[in-house]
Amino acid sequence: MTDWQELEKKYFMSTFKRMPVTLVQGRGTLVWDDEGNEYLDFTAGWGVNCLGHCHPAVVNAIKEQSKTLIQTSNQFYTIPQLELAELLVEHSCLDKAFFCNSGVEATEGAVKLARKYGKLHLNGAYEVITTFDSFHGRTLAMTAATGQRKFQEPYVPVPEGFINVAYNNIDAIKAATNSKTCAVMLEPIQGEGGVNIPAGDYLKKVRAWCDEKGILLILDEVQTGIGRLGTLFGYEQFRVEPDIITLGKGLGGGVPLGAFLSKDKSSVFAPGEHGSTFGGNPLTCAAGCATVKYVIENDIPGKARESGEYLLSELKKLKSTFKFIVDARGRGLLAAIQFESDISDNVVQSCLKRGLLLNPVKPNAIRFMPPLNITSSDINEAIMILDTVLAEVGKGKRGT
Ligand SMILES: *Cc1c(COP(=O)(O)O)cnc(C)c1O
Repeated sequence: MTDWQELEKKYFMSTFKRMPVTLVQGRGTLVWDDEGNEYLDFTAGWGVNCLGHCHPAVVNAIKEQSKTLIQTSNQFYTIPQLELAELLVEHSCLDKAFFCNSGVEATEGAVKLARKYGKLHLNGAYEVITTFDSFHGRTLAMTAATGQRKFQEPYVPVPEGFINVAYNNIDAIKAATNSKTCAVMLEPIQGEGGVNIPAGDYLKKVRAWCDEKGILLILDEVQTGIGRLGTLFGYEQFRVEPDIITLGKGLGGGVPLGAFLSKDKSSVFAPGEHGSTFGGNPLTCAAGCATVKYVIENDIPGKARESGEYLLSELKKLKSTFKFIVDARGRGLLAAIQFESDISDNVVQSCLKRGLLLNPVKPNAIRFMPPLNITSSDINEAIMILDTVLAEVGKGKRGT
């Protein structure tokens, strides 16, 4: 049998810290490796497979569209792209859509839109305020937007025009605002930064500040959008209306699809100022349409809210049992537990051996982002495995 790990070492850039398994198949909440082992997947491809792996609605849409028209270019009108734009706009507070192929293209595009707005309406203001521990993607500009030094350091100088300030702190945003500021860009809940949930009125205060200063509020909903937090969009939870949102991850139900949506006021691109070869192609947009329709018609956000509450209550039980868990937090089906020390790699490896896939989002924190249609019996199974693993870890801790 081929040693895929050896092959990777030989032929692939060593960019990823991978788990020692080669996945070959997925269905619903389950995946299988090349040796036939089965795993319960609480990573869902970083939240991408929001309806589980290979959901029939998504598979059929891809199958049918691939027989009809896979790609042309944005020189022409195509139908799935326009249907998806209508679907997203009619179910959000935004007015116009643009499609791309990933989350980072969405955030990058949103920042370009904000800069154009600054040129037109704010005397050329171009700076965007973002927060520490945020994550906005991996292009050069977005590593500058991402307020985590480790993503920027290998590549300095990174593009200018981004100011990183403390999250969940309105005064920090106020202090960083000046005549060059055109926008504030935030995640409604920081995902990659460890599932950090801001105070209930933080986004409202940021919205009020942006209104006062006439600057734009961009919400990066690449992780929180499409039902993840228990509403179709994360901003609904905080009762604010952003000027621009970005989408990615779950939007395509598994295929690479990103988007940014904007209010009419800030939809200021002129023809030729932004574009994409693949962005908005019929194949990925057909998958996106099928996904978003299914999510809306089957109240998947409502299901995510219910299962999220159940998952969090179970995680809180684990916290009261194991004293080295210092926090259990979450909203909808984006949750995390935090440890008093850096044991998440250990815990995640042990869970893998017992058939549960988890994401060690921080050295001391584990993130849970299962498919949104997960059942309570899946949650029970995950909690049972985690409980066993944590008990072992706990014994080890008492032994030392
Ligand atoms: C994952 C993520 C991105 C980047 O998306 P890619 O598809 O990896 O480019 C941007 N913003 C947030 C909030 C994310 O979670």
